[in-house]
Amino acid sequence: MKKMKFGTLCVHAGEHPDPSTGAHTTPIYQTSTFVFDTAEQGAARFAGEEEGYTYARLVPNTPTHRVLVDKMVALEGGEAGQTFSSGMAAITAVALSLLSSGDHLLSTDVVYGCTYSLFSSLLTRSGIEVSFVDTTDLDRVRRHLKKNTRMVFLETPANPTMNVCDISAIARMARAVGAVSIVDNTFASPMFQRPLELGADVVLHSCTKYIGGHADLLGGVIVGTHEFMRNMTPVVNDTGVTMGPHEAWLCIRGLKTLHLRMQKHASNALTIARYLEAHPKIAWVRYPGLPSHPQHAIAKQQMSGFGGMLSFGIAGGIEQGRKLMNSVALCSLAVSLGSVDTLIQHPASMTHADVPKEVRIRTGISDDLVRLSVGIEEPEDLIDDLDQALAKI
Ligand SMILES: *Cc1c(COP(=O)(O)O)cnc(C)c1O
Repeated sequence: MKKMKFGTLCVHAGEHPDPSTGAHTTPIYQTSTFVFDTAEQGAARFAGEEEGYTYARLVPNTPTHRVLVDKMVALEGGEAGQTFSSGMAAITAVALSLLSSGDHLLSTDVVYGCTYSLFSSLLTRSGIEVSFVDTTDLDRVRRHLKKNTRMVFLETPANPTMNVCDISAIARMARAVGAVSIVDNTFASPMFQRPLELGADVVLHSCTKYIGGHADLLGGVIVGTHEFMRNMTPVVNDTGVTMGPHEAWLCIRGLKTLHLRMQKHASNALTIARYLEAHPKIAWVRYPGLPSHPQHAIAKQQMSGFGGMLSFGIAGGIEQGRKLMNSVALCSLAVSLGSVDTLIQHPASMTHADVPKEVRIRTGISDDLVRLSVGIEEPEDLIDDLDQALAKI
């Protein structure tokens, strides 16, 4: 059959009537264990000689998980995948499966706050060498790759500065030194950016954000090759980072409208970015869809849309920013992102508070930076809300 378009895949990929009942919608297999027909069958499943379910922590988990994995594999254009209890569980598992003491990890310098902490404290303590590099600068990436670099971790667009890096170019450089390239695609979603098609080896998401899309679950997912996912299986099984079946079901349901939600997130974000850029009380705006974004050219080349995230600074700094955050009524003052409703937060004191101040300043996570996760409300109402809040400062 002809390869279907992205929106059709969101609705249909991975889905099939439940084989035991014909249920149209994927059932939630809320079970921890599975009954074997015979002792021989149980042994064959544990030996990997027969495909099938054994225990919900062990891959392939449950039939609900499999539908989600098949859908995400189709949306990202990969071969195989695995779900996790959170985005951080996915990042931890990929790091544990690739890195041992003495190996080197090259990471984008601006990454999600807990990713920064995981890499800079836990991994470093385990004897793994970590370099945080400004990956918008390809020469810098080249200079920091080493013989023992095993993993190159990219976040693009990056949380919260919205930096964009060239996935194809860096994936090629990583491959040349024998390193695996991994892209955290949480901000763009597979709707707007497909890192595997750009040459990356592995893509991952915090499903908590756009994949679930409604701020009602925690989850993570990784998509890569059959071989990569097979090699990860022991880490997944033995660390117990599995997603729950109910969360898997919520993600399946969320994904059915991913294409519609992302279009609205992106068109709203562009409207708001333009509004903010023209507002006299706003010092600067970062949105990859604006020509003023320093990596707008790369963003246009590797993304088919620019997503729903933006950051900005207010003239007068964070004091005025706090007033703005305390004055909004429709926007919620909350961390996290990618939900249908609009969320506003202050990274330097919230999501990125664990990043040392000198690192924050050097990498552009300035004290005046306010991050907006633009929802799918009508843009006029969001602008009215921002307008009345800005009038108070
Ligand atoms: C939220 C987030 C994570 C972590 O995901 P959790 O589901 O909260 O564990 C990782 N990367 C990015 C870019 C994120 O926004």
